[in-house]
Amino acid sequence: MRYPKLRELAEAVKAVIKGPYTSKFPVEPHVPHPNFRGQPEFNRDKCLGCLSCEEACPSSAIAHEDVLEGVDVPKRVMIHYTDDCIFCGVCQDACIRESDDKAIVLGNKWELSYFDRSKAYETIEKELQLCEICGTVVATKDHLLWLARMVGELSFSNPTLYLSRLRELGLADNNLEPVHPDKWRSDRIKVLCAECRRKTTTYEDE
Ligand code: SF4
Ligand code: SF4
Repeated sequence: MRYPKLRELAEAVKAVIKGPYTSKFPVEPHVPHPNFRGQPEFNRDKCLGCLSCEEACPSSAIAHEDVLEGVDVPKRVMIHYTDDCIFCGVCQDACIRESDDKAIVLGNKWELSYFDRSKAYETIEKELQLCEICGTVVATKDHLLWLARMVGELSFSNPTLYLSRLRELGLADNNLEPVHPDKWRSDRIKVLCAECRRKTTTYEDE
């Protein structure tokens, strides 16, 4: 007959006194370790819809769709495919917000099974700002406002940023009509995409 070693005996006595290492899930709820790296979660209020996390995600678990047709307000839908996510945390690192105020953070959600895999995603929506000349997407309104706040008074050198700020404060109207008949120069004080901004700056008669 083989006798247990001393180390095994000590472990057995410890288990009797302290209880087992394993949890009784699913009979009892499982509480993950505080350092557990689980599914990342968007903070709907803090997220700017800037797409930095989507660019950085190594497994294409983050995507977006800009919805411009058939809606009252154009919007960007950010999508996180939870079944593609590998919980690496790169999105959290890449988030452009301050390090103590990230808009996507690894949480402690761990029970992620689905009966229908097509439902394994979550979305958030952000209002878009379109170019006031050509109608292409400039950025989300939250992103422009955040940029204006970050650069402070320097935003007054950029009509797109300072108009975003003034409109938030209710001090400027949308889509101001040009007072001058020429097509580009009189459109300078508007929210514009890079191409239309270039044309208003390097104006040439067409
Ligand atoms: S944790 Fe990694 S895989 Fe998951 S969304 Fe973030 S970057 Fe992508
Ligand atoms: S990088 Fe941060 S702020 Fe930008 S879309 Fe992703 S979560 Fe939102």
